[in-house]
Amino acid sequence: MIKNPIPWPGGARCACAITFDVDADSLIHVARPRDSHRRLYPISMGRYDPNSGVPRILETYRRLGLRQSFFIPAWVVETYPRMIEAILDGDHEIGLHGYLHEDPTEQDDAEQSYWFERSLDVCRRATGRNPRGYRAPVYNVTPQVIDLAIHHGLTYDSSMMADDMPYVVSGGSGELIEIPVHWGSDDWPPFAHYAEIGYMMPVMSPVRGLESSFAEFEAQYAAGGLWVGIWHPFLTGRLSRWRVVEDWLEGVLARGDVWFAPLEDIAAHVSRLRADGHWTPIVEPACPYPAPVFERIQR
Ligand SMILES: [Zn+2]
Repeated sequence: MIKNPIPWPGGARCACAITFDVDADSLIHVARPRDSHRRLYPISMGRYDPNSGVPRILETYRRLGLRQSFFIPAWVVETYPRMIEAILDGDHEIGLHGYLHEDPTEQDDAEQSYWFERSLDVCRRATGRNPRGYRAPVYNVTPQVIDLAIHHGLTYDSSMMADDMPYVVSGGSGELIEIPVHWGSDDWPPFAHYAEIGYMMPVMSPVRGLESSFAEFEAQYAAGGLWVGIWHPFLTGRLSRWRVVEDWLEGVLARGDVWFAPLEDIAAHVSRLRADGHWTPIVEPACPYPAPVFERIQR
């Protein structure tokens, strides 16, 4: 079912990573820059991340012995240092996720460089090391950002969707591993209800909302692949939903043949396999089209 299956460590059948995008209240500040400071409801919804969502998730990971990945806008890293300390105490990975969750597709090259490098600097200072991974806010990665990530020594991106399995993105300045995502395993469609930023999804029950993620996992498990959840603490970290996730996690761990790992470990594993000639990924260009396609079509 998968053309180029990856041999996972320890003979595991399947690899699995829950990634949390810890946006906190960055979303409202970037969406409503003029008056976000007086919009207490969306601010409070975002502050659920450091107050309740992330501590609850970390406690579960501690109990189950899991290390996982968190993608965090740099402004959130600066604003909530105690949350960052707790994530690092659990030996989890922190990856880049913009400065204030700004959308790279709305910025020119100079702005993209400025905010990428400023985020990188914050992340390095907070974690004491170079981040390995990047996920674009709203998945809106650009060829410029891919080049910046390569230039600054990151090893992977996790914003694109061109295959079921990790693949290679080749840009002007080198290559990155892509650990693909998909809306089927994202908690935004079933749970986000946020008029201020233009989302009014019909909120699903915890079980129904998580069904799609779990079905995606089962398909990857059957095929010997990799499942990546893309979740948010203020959505899936809420009590009723996290209870469902905890039950699911315990069941999956009891199978004994699933490799849970942060994305940096998965990227390192597939890079090693590729270097040793044990695995051949598909290679995608970082910039498939040098100019807008429609403008260049002759009438
Ligand atoms: Zn985000």
